[in-house]
Amino acid sequence: MQPSLFEPSGSSQETSVPTASDLVAMSKALLQELDGLDVETLRVDAAQVLAGRLRTVLRAHSYRYYVLDDPLVADPEYDVLFRGLQAVEQQFPSLATPDSPTQRVGGAPLDRFVKVRHPEPLLSLGNAFDEAELRAWFERCCKGLGQEKGEATPPALTVELKIDGLAVALTYQEGGLEVAATRGNGLVGEDITRNVKTIYAVPLKIPVGPEAGSLEAPKKMEVRGEIFMRRSRFAALNDRLAEAEEKTFANPRNAAAGSLRQLDPAITAQRPLTFFAYSLGPVTGEAPGSQFETLAWLRRLGFPVNEHTRRFESLDEVVAFCCQWTEARDTLDYEIDGVVVKVDDFAAQEKLGFVSNAPRWAVAFKFPAREATTRLEDIIVNVGRTGAIKPEAVLEPVEIGGVTVSQATLHNEDYITSRDIRIGDTVVVKRAGDVIPAVVKPLKEARVGDEKPWSMPTHCPSCGSELIRLPEEAEWYCLSSDCPAQFIRLIEHYASRNAMDIEGLGSKMAVVLVQEGLAAHLADLYRLDKEKLLALEGFADKRAENLLEGIEASKHRPLSRLLFALGIRHVGRTTAELIVPYYASLEALESATVEDLEAIDGIGHVIAESIVDWFRATDDHGQRINQRLVEDLRALGVNTERLPEEAPPETGEESPVAGRTFVLTGTLPTLSRSEAQARIKQAGGKVTGSVSRNTDYVVAGESPGSKLDRARELEVKILDEAGLLKLLSQ
Ligand code: NAD
Repeated sequence: MQPSLFEPSGSSQETSVPTASDLVAMSKALLQELDGLDVETLRVDAAQVLAGRLRTVLRAHSYRYYVLDDPLVADPEYDVLFRGLQAVEQQFPSLATPDSPTQRVGGAPLDRFVKVRHPEPLLSLGNAFDEAELRAWFERCCKGLGQEKGEATPPALTVELKIDGLAVALTYQEGGLEVAATRGNGLVGEDITRNVKTIYAVPLKIPVGPEAGSLEAPKKMEVRGEIFMRRSRFAALNDRLAEAEEKTFANPRNAAAGSLRQLDPAITAQRPLTFFAYSLGPVTGEAPGSQFETLAWLRRLGFPVNEHTRRFESLDEVVAFCCQWTEARDTLDYEIDGVVVKVDDFAAQEKLGFVSNAPRWAVAFKFPAREATTRLEDIIVNVGRTGAIKPEAVLEPVEIGGVTVSQATLHNEDYITSRDIRIGDTVVVKRAGDVIPAVVKPLKEARVGDEKPWSMPTHCPSCGSELIRLPEEAEWYCLSSDCPAQFIRLIEHYASRNAMDIEGLGSKMAVVLVQEGLAAHLADLYRLDKEKLLALEGFADKRAENLLEGIEASKHRPLSRLLFALGIRHVGRTTAELIVPYYASLEALESATVEDLEAIDGIGHVIAESIVDWFRATDDHGQRINQRLVEDLRALGVNTERLPEEAPPETGEESPVAGRTFVLTGTLPTLSRSEAQARIKQAGGKVTGSVSRNTDYVVAGESPGSKLDRARELEVKILDEAGLLKLLSQ
């Protein structure tokens, strides 16, 4: 980092440029200090020191974000620091300096590009972090327009999604794109015309398209908008870069910035950038008088304008729009970080004017935080119910969007090694919607040298068996059938709502039952009695009775629930529901072959093999443990039979094809293989790939293979095409 690229410091408290690791440490300390700080209680000397530290840190972050496209803190954390400085400067106006980050926009333009002075500055936006702040902003607007609360009609508002990309100013002369510039520091940007010309969404000549009609472009105009990368294209780009062993981008915004500021436009041309126009700069000639009309006009001229833009007469509708998009942001193929709310009428905008670095007539409603940076204190591994070993991050607790996060997933070994995530690293953690928090990446530059690389343990943390990584799988597994951790997870799963739905049997109870030796197999759940439970700590009559009632009720669940509950790899609830119509009981399923199962629509080889393997699994003494489990469950009163409502639909029950298993071999005279298969399936039959004792018919055509011999051997009925057609017609 070059100190000369920073603005000169404005006070003696502002230190020189900190290193990346110092910057992270300083930011963390400041975030902690600001948490709950009441600036009104600060003494002026303390406030001066605090303002100085905040300025140093904010300048450094801005530089990394705007100039290097390589931020060290998450945006919401930057916002907290920024607002902290704003609050101090508001409380102590004498401490505000003209070069404070609160008075400025963006970062310095890069020397590598020719600089462009903007005819009118490209400003930043004020922020509203919740509904109350949005309402306060609107009240200020109404007041600024001379309207007291409740009086006159409040101004109409245009709302636009705040696309998380890069601002660009496009100057058109006589309808042709002349200059494209980044926002830079708001006054001076970088000339990126050659790069922008490679983006298809940016019109090179206007008007374009059928909507324009007789519309003419003004003599000269500046169109402002956002250049960004769609999520789907971003993922594909990162895959491509990773394959070529090049540096990948952390997020779509970084990818857009990095792609746009390439010295070689040929590289930009290969990057999937796109564009939305959102406002007009200076215009020579006729232009509309409001924001909403301007957007419609720009669209007619040929500019892409975001389709979710709306104009509302009331603030309540604006609030509803903001709430709706807070929830729906992940449904879009591009990232948005808020909603921009603008007073629609230009005359009203003019009346409201600007503060130093942002218009008064617009505000950015920012969505709640989803990312934060924190320290990765440790990496532990958990054993899942299928034996998969899952690495998990133990984090220094950090608040993200109102929730304290202290653990996050690290997915698997490759995820950690390919990103070189180390214990002790400062990491970016993301928490989106209902998704489990995840570590996104480490901030390598913030390393101090004592971070420790991590490696997958060689043995199971629960039972000590050697771990195995199966070919073509990202996960390591503990394959021991005696692993208590797996068994605890299995009980949790078995008792869960979608499986056997056993009231009172959650994670904690599962641990107790296993640790106290009351459950070593699933069937043991049905061997529990009141006496055994009352001997446990914290168990009174009522609790024991409730649990036993819950267990008793689970005996009557449908077969598909039981099949799902058994925790067979790859057998989810839907898979179980697909299989059960074809088998009258678990015992019947036990004798199914891989081919039989594969013949069911929606069941592939992997699932079929997993089920067959499950029934065949043996313990150390060669006993079929799972077959034994099924027997025990049935003997203990658990329903292992298909319920009437799970039976296949009545269609063709009388036909000789329904429920029968067919094998096709050789070439049939008129029917193709897939036609024959389809007609058998339509009539309720199954088609499998190899002949077994479960096969009812082999249909043989010309040049049959060994299947025909096998059929003869097993005395399976053999049909030709005519025989098949006759059967189908019955
Ligand atoms: P801003 O991002 O809050 O808003 C202004 C920008 O919004 C415009 O320049 C434009 O690019 C964009 N925008 C998108 N859609 C728009 C629309 N429909 N109408 C108008 N503008 C639209 O302000 P800013 O000054 O660009 O950046 C400040 C933000 O950048 C901070 O809030 C912070 O989140 C982030 N930042 C992060 C770091 C970091 O280190 N993580 C550093 C500096 C800034």
